[in-house]
Amino acid sequence: MGSTSISPDVIERFTAIVGEKYALRSEADLAPHLIENRGLYHGSSPLLLKPGTVEEVSAIMKLATETGTAIVPQTGNTGLVGGQTPREGKADVILSLERMSKIRDVDPVANVLVADGGAILAEVQKAAEAHGRLFPLSLGSEGSCRIGGNLSTNAGGTAVLAYGNMRQLCLGLEVVLPTGEIWDGLRRLKKDNTGYDLRDLFIGAEGTLGIVTGAVLKLFPQPLGHQVAFAGLSSVDDALAFFNLASSLCGTSLTGFELMPRFGVEITVRNIDGVRDPLETPHDWYVLIDISTSDSAETAERMMNAVLEQGFEAGLVQDAAIASSVAQQKALWHMRESMSDAQKPEGGSIKHDVSVPVSKIPHFMNEAAEAVTAAMPGARICAFGHMGDGNIHYNISQPVGADKDAFIARWHEMNHIVHGLVLAHGGSISAEHGIGQLKRDELASIRPAIEMELMRRIKRAFDPAGIMNPDKVVSL
Ligand SMILES: Cc1cc2nc3c(=O)[nH]c(=O)nc-3n(C[C@H](O)[C@H](O)[C@H](O)COP(=O)(O)OP(=O)(O)OC[C@H]3O[C@@H](n4cnc5c(N)ncnc54)[C@H](O)[C@@H]3O)c2cc1C
Repeated sequence: MGSTSISPDVIERFTAIVGEKYALRSEADLAPHLIENRGLYHGSSPLLLKPGTVEEVSAIMKLATETGTAIVPQTGNTGLVGGQTPREGKADVILSLERMSKIRDVDPVANVLVADGGAILAEVQKAAEAHGRLFPLSLGSEGSCRIGGNLSTNAGGTAVLAYGNMRQLCLGLEVVLPTGEIWDGLRRLKKDNTGYDLRDLFIGAEGTLGIVTGAVLKLFPQPLGHQVAFAGLSSVDDALAFFNLASSLCGTSLTGFELMPRFGVEITVRNIDGVRDPLETPHDWYVLIDISTSDSAETAERMMNAVLEQGFEAGLVQDAAIASSVAQQKALWHMRESMSDAQKPEGGSIKHDVSVPVSKIPHFMNEAAEAVTAAMPGARICAFGHMGDGNIHYNISQPVGADKDAFIARWHEMNHIVHGLVLAHGGSISAEHGIGQLKRDELASIRPAIEMELMRRIKRAFDPAGIMNPDKVVSL
């Protein structure tokens, strides 16, 4: 589906909506928008539109439906499944909300912030902080990803354990539908049981149902106490037992519990400037523990000491370091967040963003390591992630000296092995990055037929002309 060209007349009509300056057509202007972070997709597009108002977005969508022109929403272009990349060989028009990046309102009493869909995540965090509040969504890409993209991918990140993912952090939405109609659902209510939850349909839809132009986001009090520690352990079983201990002692004050393998720490120290190993001797596994408390700094300190003490006493923790300054806390998080980038200099990397029930993590990790290395001797596994959420980025670096292209050619074979085990443990093949182009066909092959059919019916109801980010998530 979808046209491979677009007539000059239609291009002129789109251009007239936003003005010449904001309708980009040159190869140089379009180039950065046709590729994505992992280099897996390279799309084509004749036109990039940068509307400045909701009304302009509406006019664009109306014209797109009238002319059957496919529209691909793109905000920060940091997505990891090719959802924001136009299709190759088609004439998809890219719609960027870059110019619609304002913080519209902050209400610290109601604990809400209203932002444009193009607001950069880091700017939203800063605006909340300026009012003594916290917007807890935090990702490695927060300097460039934008709220519309965060909502459309239902982004997770490092604080899901305590605050939830984007779905839990959003109260209301403003959406321009593929037909050009505007839905003003910018409600600020925590309680609103009035029929179908339309908001929840758009969150995680990856731009296939409409354009998110505005959102009401939830804020929280800024924590008064914050502690970060890094601990060395000998196994994933111990990491799970330690997580259980930490969450029992801290409850909702446990704001992060990240698992990392020795190989991940080794390559991060080797390949990322300024990162050093926080512990003196190597350990097979590591966890980063993050504790935030709302009453006082002392409570956080007391909690962290108790968690580590009991971890040592139970024989789970072999060594640990507590960050003694904000700079050290940031350095520990930087190490964890650089683990993806650290894999690049190691050659090809086959990625999986999976989740299983937390209690199944050790079984899954052991079985997957055995199956992957049996299929590919020498494969270097970098399985790390948000252990507290059951979410593991199960990445496989190529064997030393292997041919990168030949290794990457085995992407689907490795996916099949890892995802098979994930499904056997009742898990998900996409914990936080979404479906996009990367997992569209796989999703259709694993979900019950009735679920896929319901998704198609929803898609047709919202997008009768089939112009809204076609061939992403679900094919019609
Ligand atoms: C270094 C790095 C670290 C990351 N860490 C995490 C992480 O910890 N957790 C996590 O969940 N993700 C993570 N990601 C993935 C990515 O950053 C998130 O998915 C992010 O939410 C995407 O936002 P974006 O603005 O870049 O969206 P884009 O990449 O521009 O778009 C993503 C999807 O949303 C759609 N879309 C974009 N804007 C709109 C809109 N206004 N209306 C409707 N649809 C829209 C696009 O069509 C596409 O399908 C990471 C990425 C990188 C590069």
